[in-house]
Amino acid sequence: MITRFAPSTTGEAHPGTLLSALLVWLSARSVNGRAILRLEDLDRTRVKAAWSEQMIGALAWLGLAWDETVTQSERTARHEAALDQLAAQGRLYPCTCSRAQRTGGRPAPDGGWAYENTCRDRALPLGGWRALAETSIRVRLPDDRIELVDQGGLVLSQQPARELGDPIVRRRDGAIAYQLAVVVDDADEGITDVIRGRDIAASTATQVMLQRLLGLAQPRYRHHFLFLESAGTKLAKLHGSIPWTALRERYTDPRELCSVLAMAANLGAGSPQELVPSFAWSRVPIADKVARWDGASLVIS
Ligand code: GLU
Ligand code: ZN
Repeated sequence: MITRFAPSTTGEAHPGTLLSALLVWLSARSVNGRAILRLEDLDRTRVKAAWSEQMIGALAWLGLAWDETVTQSERTARHEAALDQLAAQGRLYPCTCSRAQRTGGRPAPDGGWAYENTCRDRALPLGGWRALAETSIRVRLPDDRIELVDQGGLVLSQQPARELGDPIVRRRDGAIAYQLAVVVDDADEGITDVIRGRDIAASTATQVMLQRLLGLAQPRYRHHFLFLESAGTKLAKLHGSIPWTALRERYTDPRELCSVLAMAANLGAGSPQELVPSFAWSRVPIADKVARWDGASLVIS
């Protein structure tokens, strides 16, 4: 069993990222598997080296040691080889749609808008995808439906080409897009089990379709509950409201913070190592929880 924790280093670590890291780490350690930390730093406009360093430090402080650390931005050659492979299949095309053209149409399962595959008939320039500057590149997906149920029983079956539309694989600013990078990296690292938050569940069918196009093995998937915060009258994915710096100031004992996270996941109290023997996914709740900062402590309900 080989799994990974793959945070985007676009902000401070927070209770949601730490919960995910703990669940991934426990999944591996409880079956003598491997746990890889992959820093997802491809979004040049949003990442900061300081946040990668903070993430590494926060995980180490909590007691989560990784068998290997991979930095996604160092893997460009592998990502570009995948683009070449898709180009050889005649599947890449430039998308020149404006943001306005891409929003407000049909709602997609990921909470955004479905792309209507408007530019599908556009050809790559003579020099291929590398000759395209300042233009997004998409991949034409087969119209097939992917039948998929994750390890927690979450039904993720989808016809991604229609429900979400063809994904962007290289962004307008030249960055390799998440959907492509994640598939290439999971395969290269030999990931057998992808364990991550439910916020990404709707992307899974697209990723499976990309695996098929690239001839890559399909890992098992599991999507866990999230910590939410109140945003006005609604609940939203936890963001900047409980940053690592605040947590680190309040908690001087890693075991105490780990226990708050573990209790929220119905795993009892203890350090990561102490939680290993009794860890089981059957104990972990399905429903999302609310995380609050009451000034003195992290409160999960
Ligand atoms: N980097 C993504 C995030 O932090 C997660 C990627 C994944 O687990 O597939 O939201
Ligand atoms: Zn387009």
